[in-house]
Amino acid sequence: MSELHIGLDDTDSQKGMCSTYVVSQILQKLDLRKNLISPPELVRLNPTIPWKTRGNGALSIRLKLGQKNIENLKKEIIELVEEYREESSNSGVVFFDNDPRNIEELRDFSKKAVKEIVKIQNARELAKEYGEAYEFGNGQGVVGAVCAVGYVFSDYTFELIGYRKKERWGTERDLEKNSVKKISKKYSPTIWDNFDWRNSEMVLSPNSPCPVLFGIRGDSKERIIEASKELRGEEVVLKQLFKTNQGTDEHLQHKKNIDKIKPYTSVIIKGEVVREPETIEGGHVILGICGEAGNVIDCAAYEPTKDFRNTIRKLIKGDTIKVFGGVRKKPLTINLEKIKIIDLAINSEEKNPVCPDCGNRMESAGKEQGYRCRKCSTFANKKVKIFRERELEEKVYEVPPTARRHLSKPLIREEQD
Ligand code: ATP
Repeated sequence: MSELHIGLDDTDSQKGMCSTYVVSQILQKLDLRKNLISPPELVRLNPTIPWKTRGNGALSIRLKLGQKNIENLKKEIIELVEEYREESSNSGVVFFDNDPRNIEELRDFSKKAVKEIVKIQNARELAKEYGEAYEFGNGQGVVGAVCAVGYVFSDYTFELIGYRKKERWGTERDLEKNSVKKISKKYSPTIWDNFDWRNSEMVLSPNSPCPVLFGIRGDSKERIIEASKELRGEEVVLKQLFKTNQGTDEHLQHKKNIDKIKPYTSVIIKGEVVREPETIEGGHVILGICGEAGNVIDCAAYEPTKDFRNTIRKLIKGDTIKVFGGVRKKPLTINLEKIKIIDLAINSEEKNPVCPDCGNRMESAGKEQGYRCRKCSTFANKKVKIFRERELEEKVYEVPPTARRHLSKPLIREEQD
């Protein structure tokens, strides 16, 4: 029996569409669900690349085909992509007749694209050597298409996406908040990041004018499917389940030295707080950490991370933390996704002693003359150390679901490991 592996990316723009929808339409309109080897895959690639539309998702479909005319099928797929893609998008579609995951070069290329920026030329060469590629616009989508089709999961989760009626695209989404709360509570911890309890906001609905009504995320596809039946709101015309690398932290690379950190990558690095958190214009909180080799880098908790910034504001000089986040270029800054507090410094301050009789602070009695209370004539030799309780614990703190990157692993998943 022959196989066909299809990769697809970059069909949307800020104005609308979504590549997951194009895949769902291909499966439905060409009646291919029964041919699926596994659920279609939604592979999130490097979240720091500057030219992505939203979540940098690329897609693959893997089919087992009987007597179907494969050349004809490829033609029909391209026609559907042409029909649905946004005109301004740079779509890419690739076809491989043999499983591209058996090609080491391709597997490595896909993995690299989750963590770094890769070259379109390399993607084109790989597609040409092992398969065939179709490009639209400037063809950048061929990168995602090749990466999705050659991608091998190390860890995975699922997302079930529900799509809206076409007439409703671009209008306000009608989804009952209570039903979202209900499923989030009932199916936790196997489904997650659907409702943000900290900010009382629905996270499963996008804000863009795309065809998506909701996307339920979690570890168990059975529970996700059950949960989707309990959502209440406007009509859902199509549902599609995707296997995905969302919520896996696959984008992060452990780094030992700050001088090895490159922009447009995502890192985990241990450091000591050397510049205390400062709130700048726009409500963003910036602090400086120093790595093992003595270099300092800025770390930022941006305004959309909401109450996470309060945690960051409580850090002081001398705290040892591990930071997790994407690296922006100018100025070189780690955009915090979570932190792990390794060691909290002691927060103390030297103050003049308190008079044992009246309770007021004593005054200096002169250089190296000790301290005295004028009113009560009491005396003390030296200053006293005041210890302030730290309102932090040595544990992981994460941004709220509303501010989480698709690839970021929520704490709730770590706790299940
Ligand atoms: P969509 O819903 O269409 O997938 P998106 O947010 O995923 O939207 P795209 O419109 O696909 O963003 O734009 C991302 C573009 O960047 C694609 O053309 C993709 O091929 C390309 N790309 C993705 N990852 C990398 C990478 N690591 N290096 C270079 N190019 C990349």
